[in-house]
Amino acid sequence: MDATEFSAQMRRGYSSKADACRDKTHRSSWGVMVRLGNYSAFNGYHFTPSDYSLVRCGHPGCGRMWRTKASYVSELPDLTRERG
Ligand SMILES: [Zn+2]
Repeated sequence: MDATEFSAQMRRGYSSKADACRDKTHRSSWGVMVRLGNYSAFNGYHFTPSDYSLVRCGHPGCGRMWRTKASYVSELPDLTRERG
């Protein structure tokens, strides 16, 4: 990611790439919050297509979020109907 995208993630409280959930026991709890795009403050929170998806770990006590373009995203369920 570029510096602008990185700083935007920090403001929104997303974990940095280094903090992404790497615990394979959590993987069954992973889901996609925003698939192949993002909602950026810099464009008024409109959806912007991207190679990257926003993934969230729903494991209790974890809750990490990260952006990735890894192939496993296509195997994860969507979380777009889940609010809060
Ligand atoms: Zn996790």
